[in-house]
Amino acid sequence: MPEKSLEQTLAFAAMVARKQGWALNPDASFLSVLAEGLTANWNRYGYYLCPCRDSEGSRELDAKVLCPCAYSWKDIEEHGHCYCALYLSTGFAASGKEPAGIPDRRFAGND
Ligand code: SF4
Repeated sequence: MPEKSLEQTLAFAAMVARKQGWALNPDASFLSVLAEGLTANWNRYGYYLCPCRDSEGSRELDAKVLCPCAYSWKDIEEHGHCYCALYLSTGFAASGKEPAGIPDRRFAGND
């Protein structure tokens, strides 16, 4: 699996946001930290494991937390942003509000 650069990861995140009608977190340094985490995860595991979550040991077990995770649509609809706050709804982004900590649906049994 060829390694990804930070620029490739940022382009990937921008493509996801564009496709889903979401916005990227406007805080450039926060965005960069998340993109670095995603890049490190790709280069370590071979897939974009969520930068805010730990691997359960295999791609199969991590399937729901490959970015964009299975929970992102619900979280963005409900809270205005995903768990990491990499992606925001356009409405939330326009509001200028700061993303807050939200519960992780991963082990909540409500996915
Ligand atoms: S919470 Fe989901 S959508 Fe947000 S960065 Fe993590 S994997 Fe990606």
